[in-house]
This record gives sequence, C-alpha cells and structure tokens, in this order.
Amino acid sequence: MTIMTESVSGTVSKSTYDVKNYIGGQFINGTERSLEILSPIDGTHLGHVPLSTTTELDAAVTAASAAFPAWSAKTMKDRVQIFYRYRTLLEQHMTELSELIQLENGKTFDEARAEIEKSIELTEFACSLPQMMAGEIMEVSRGVECRIDQKPLGVVASIAPFNFPHMVPHWTIPNALVLGNCMIFKPSEVVPITANRIAEMLKEAGLPDGVFNIVNGDREIVEAICDHDGIEAVSFVGSTRIAKVVYRRATNNLKRALALGGAKNHLIVMPDAHPEMTASNVTASMSGCAGQRCMAASAMVGVGNIDPIIERICDEARKVVPGINLGSVISQAAKQRIERYITEAEAAGAKVLVDGRNAVVHGKEGGFYVAPTVIDHVTPDMAIAQEEVFGPVLAIMRSNSLDDALQIENGSDYGNAAAVFTQNGGIARQVMEQASAGMIGVNIGVPVPREPFSFGGWNESKFGVGDITGVSSIEFWTQRKKTSIKWNPESRTNWMS
Ligand code: NAD
Repeated sequence: MTIMTESVSGTVSKSTYDVKNYIGGQFINGTERSLEILSPIDGTHLGHVPLSTTTELDAAVTAASAAFPAWSAKTMKDRVQIFYRYRTLLEQHMTELSELIQLENGKTFDEARAEIEKSIELTEFACSLPQMMAGEIMEVSRGVECRIDQKPLGVVASIAPFNFPHMVPHWTIPNALVLGNCMIFKPSEVVPITANRIAEMLKEAGLPDGVFNIVNGDREIVEAICDHDGIEAVSFVGSTRIAKVVYRRATNNLKRALALGGAKNHLIVMPDAHPEMTASNVTASMSGCAGQRCMAASAMVGVGNIDPIIERICDEARKVVPGINLGSVISQAAKQRIERYITEAEAAGAKVLVDGRNAVVHGKEGGFYVAPTVIDHVTPDMAIAQEEVFGPVLAIMRSNSLDDALQIENGSDYGNAAAVFTQNGGIARQVMEQASAGMIGVNIGVPVPREPFSFGGWNESKFGVGDITGVSSIEFWTQRKKTSIKWNPESRTNWMS
C-alpha cells in the first residue's frame, strides 16, 4: 500500500491511500476500473481502490495454488508460530490500526480499538487449534487403528462487508490459514485500506508469499470468485440479498459455502427488567457503531407497562452525540435510507421520542451522521419493524404478553440475535427456548459469543451448515481423512478383510 501524507490544518495528518491488490506476496498496481474511497467522518477523499477482474483473480489463485503444497505440508504447530508473532504485531499496532479503521469506516476510536481486541482474541483461538484438534484415534480391533486427520481444502475465499474492516476478516483468516488453506480475501470496496495493512502485517509475521492474497473489487470479482474452478470454498459476510446470491452461485459451482446475511434483532423487555442496566444496555446495543452491527438491537418489544424503562432509554440516547461518542454511518446513501425509515414510520403513526435526523457535526459538515433515534408505538407490519435499517434507530413495539412478544420475534425473516431483559429465570428460559435466532442474550444486548463459542445466526441471517468462527469453523475449513491401519500381519480385523 502506498501512503502519501500531507498536513491538514497543521494539526491532523491526512493521507491518501493507494490501495492495491496483494498477490503472491507483492502489492500489484492498478486495474482498468477503480473506485474512489471517501472518509464517512467528513466526506473527504481517501484514495482509490482497484476493481479487479478475472485476470487478477486468476493470478491470485495461481499464487495461492503454488503456495499450498508447502504451506499445507507444515505441521499446524509450525503454522501457528506465525500467528503468535502476528498477534504481538496486532497489539503493537493497536493505535495505528484503530485510527485507520476510524478513518475509513467512521466508527469511534474506542469502537475501532475494540475491533482489534476482538481480532486478537480470534487470532489467539487460531493459535489454540493444535491443542484443540489433538487426537482422534482408536484401537478398533487388537492391533488395528482408525484415525481421523482434518486436512485443508486448498485455495479458499473470504468475502467481507464494510462494517468491521478488521474483525470480520479475522473471523476467517487466522482459522483458515492455521488449518492449512491458502486464501483469496475480498474486502469491502468501501473499506479496503485496513485489509492492505493486514497483508503487510501477516508478511511481517513471516507468512510465506501466496498463502494470503487480496483481490479488491465489487460485484464482478465476487461473481468470479464463486465461479472459479481453483477455489474450493467461499465464505461470505454481508447483506442477506447478496448472501443468497453468493451461496446459490458458489454451491451451484459445487463449492462449499457459508454465507452470513443481515439481521433484525429483537430485544424483549419485561416490566421486571432492571431499569438502569436495561436502558444503558439497550441504548449501547442500538447506537454502538452507529447501529451498523449485525448484532445491534433494532427492534424492541416491550411487554406490559415498561414506560419508565423507555424514558430512561430516551435519556441514555440523548447522551450519545455524533462526533463525540457516536461515529458516522458509512455513506450519504445510508444516511438517507435510515432517515427515510424514520420518516415513513412517523407518517404511519409511530411516535418519534428521540429524533436523530438531520444531525450535523460542527467542522465535519461533509460527514454522514445520524443521531440515536427512539421510535415508540411501531407496529409489526411497518417496514421499520421488519427490514434491516442498519443505523442507530430503536423501533419499539408494545405487547401484552411474552407469548405475543415471542410471536413478533418469531415472525421476522431474520434470526441473527434476540435478547430478553428480565430478572425472572423462567421468562429468560422461555425466550432462550422459543426465540428463533442463532445467538440469544439474557440481559445482554449484543450477545456475541466469545471464543471458542461460534458465531452465526439462523433463518435468513445465515445460509450453509455450521458457524463461521470457533469450533464450528474447523469443519468448514477442513475435510476429514479417515485412515484404518493394521500395524502387524498377525493383527486381526474383525470385519471387511
Ligand atoms: P453487502 O452485502 O452490500 O456487501 C458485502 C460484500 O458483497 C462486499 O464485499 C461487496 O463488495 C459484495 N457485493 C456487494 N454487492 C454485490 C453483488 N451485487 N454481487 C456480488 N457481491 C456483491 O454488505 P455491506 O453493506 O458491506 O455490509 C452490511 C451488511 O452486512 C448488513 O446487512 C449486515 O447485517 C451484514 N453483516 C452481517 C454479519 C453477520 O454475521 N451475519 C456481520 C457483519 C455484517
């Protein structure tokens, strides 16, 4: 990556980023098409990202295929040594990486830093794989053993969204590589800068050339990845619409695929919920990362009289201020989409209690900001109750019973996360059992499972078998080789021979 730095207003250092593809250990110059990268913080120009074609993808697959025999022949214990060093580099470069994420994604510095902390945890998990995967062997007859080895697939691909430029790539990169695969990584074209730093740091940690490659681009390159004969598996994280396209196309081409999609996460709030904790947790869940998290609280279902809790949520929401403790949304189009959902809900009869429309940050007038918005008396038929808004907006619906609240939750096409706020164990248990979502929170608004527990939703929030991280990801990135061994001629096999 080439970085040209200039001084802005004599205080801040602003850079132009010339994002490149990374193939066979080299940053490769230009393609015919490119896209301008804007900083959502203030709308300023950050650089350009190449929009690659099959030519660049072919080169990347060739480099990855060439690297695969030597990389997969190493023991897992040898491969993780590189990731131990990489983990240390992440820690050393925490501030620089956080600033980079902030610049291209728009989230706050603290949120960006939390992303790197999670990437470190994901890398640590990958470093533990040799211990976790030790030994599946059994003496099945006297002197005869069966063993299972989990072997890499070959060249695999990972396609990422814009909302976590560092953490989501680390859902796949460390595990897939430690397990012996070589990878083609396709970052979001909206936030491609951080990915170039990932490549530089993996190289610095000692990753052999060709094991990790980046091909930048948009729809064309994603389709080419799904079609390429040299790629064995495709993992995708992004919106449901594109997840369906990728899953269908990759599996139609006989590839293994796992595609995580969008979300509409419901929080059920009971009248016995702890008011202070619930209000701060719900507000943090809906407004963190400007609501651009697939785990964000988007719809809240209040059961019975929860007016005092809603009042507190509004108070908390007013303390979250764009440009101070709230970042931007990703683009002008995203800002307009989010504000349109609010306006349409209001027109349909919902009551806007806290209005985040038309937010402007002084000195960053070109940025894309929406302040936290709380809307009450939303009904389940409204678009804001059904569709993914992906902004700092909480749509509150009311119900008279837990059963009704669960019916609303179950009615969603999505199923990433659901949560309940209550102090009653029986109620919590019922939501754990009956919510139709892959990740459940009890008094936790963003129930992201920590490693080694795996991450993945249900319904239209995920297509494919298994989850993308943790223990579950081992099955996705490997294939089982089953070997039966008779050590001595006199050993007796009791069937089949
Ligand atoms: P997106 O679907 O627009 O883009 C994701 C990837 O798909 C990008 O790399 C993009 O280049 C590519 N892409 C875009 N349009 C395409 C097309 N027509 N054909 C082929 N590829 C295409 O998603 P986004 O806006 O970058 O990210 C936000 C979405 O991601 C939200 O819906 C969010 O919920 C979801 N997300 C889900 C999870 C999860 O774990 N389920 C995690 C993070 C984000």
